[in-house]
Amino acid sequence: MRFAFVTRTDPTSYKLEHFIHARLEENHWIYDPEHPEIVISIGGDGTLLRSIHQYIHCLNDILLVGIHTGTLGFLVDYTKEEIDLFVDDLLHSSPTIDEIPLLEMHVSNIDSPFYAFNEVRIESLEKTLSLEVYIDDEFFELCNGSGVCICTQSGSTAVNRALHGAVIDSGLQVLQLCEIMPITHQNHHSLRNPYIMREDRIIRIEGESLHYAKACFDHLSISLDDVDSILIATSQKKVRFARFRTYSYLTRLKNLY
Ligand code: NAP
Repeated sequence: MRFAFVTRTDPTSYKLEHFIHARLEENHWIYDPEHPEIVISIGGDGTLLRSIHQYIHCLNDILLVGIHTGTLGFLVDYTKEEIDLFVDDLLHSSPTIDEIPLLEMHVSNIDSPFYAFNEVRIESLEKTLSLEVYIDDEFFELCNGSGVCICTQSGSTAVNRALHGAVIDSGLQVLQLCEIMPITHQNHHSLRNPYIMREDRIIRIEGESLHYAKACFDHLSISLDDVDSILIATSQKKVRFARFRTYSYLTRLKNLY
C-alpha cells in the first residue's frame, strides 16, 4: 500500500508521524507522497481539511484517515492514545468507505471551480455587504451584514455553529445557509434563521458589494474584486474516508460542551 502524511506542525504530531511511518515500512508499505493510495492526517479536524485540499486533484484515487493529537474532533476517528490500535487497523483490517460530497463554488470570472468540505463564506468584516441570494434561480432574500455562510452537514459543527446555525446529524445530506452578523432595520427584512435545504439546491449570490468581499472556502480564500456572481452547489467530487470502526456522532457532539 502506498501512503502519505499530512501532519500538523507540532512536536507531538511529528513524533506520531515517525512512529507510524516506521511501523508501516516495516510491514512493506511504501511511502509515496506523490501517488498515495491512503493519506494519513495527523493533528485535528483542521489538519484533515488541509489533507483534503492538498490532495484535491486526486480525491477519487485516495482514502483519507486521521488521528487526533488533541481532543477527538468530528472528522477523525482515533486519538493519539489509540495509536497502536490505529496502526493495527491500518495493517490488518478492511475499512468501509464513507463518501462525502464537497461543496463546489463557481466564480464568474474564473474558469475552474473551488471546493470546500466544511463551508463557503462570502464575507467582509470591514465593509457592510448587501448580497442578493437566489436559490434555484428564484430570488430568496437580500442579506445586509457581514456576509453569508453556506455549509455542508460535516461543516455544520464548524463556523456554522458559531453563527448559531443548526448542527446537522451525520448521514443527512443537506446544505445550510446562515447570515453573518445581519443588519435589520425598518426597510429591510431577511429570514435571519438558518435555512436548511435539499443538497441539490443551487445558490447564486450577486450584488455590487461582492467586490469588497472575500470568498472563504474552508481555510482558503480569494478576493472577489472583479466578480459579479457566485454559484454554490453540492459537487460530484467526494472525499473518501476509510472507516475502520464506527464512532458515535453523539459522543463527538457531547465532547463539544
Ligand atoms: P483551524 O485552526 O483549521 O480550525 C479552527 C477550529 O475549527 C479548530 O478547533 C478545528 O478543530 C475546528 N474545526 C474544523 N473543522 C471542523 C468541523 N467540521 N467540525 C468541528 N470543528 C471543526 O482554522 P482555520 O485555519 O481558520 O480553518 C478554517 C476552518 O476552521 C473553517 O472551515 C472553519 O469552519 C473552521 N473554524 C471554526 C471556527 C469556529 O468554530 N468558531 C472558527 C474558525 C475556524 P481541530 O482543533 O480539531 O483542528
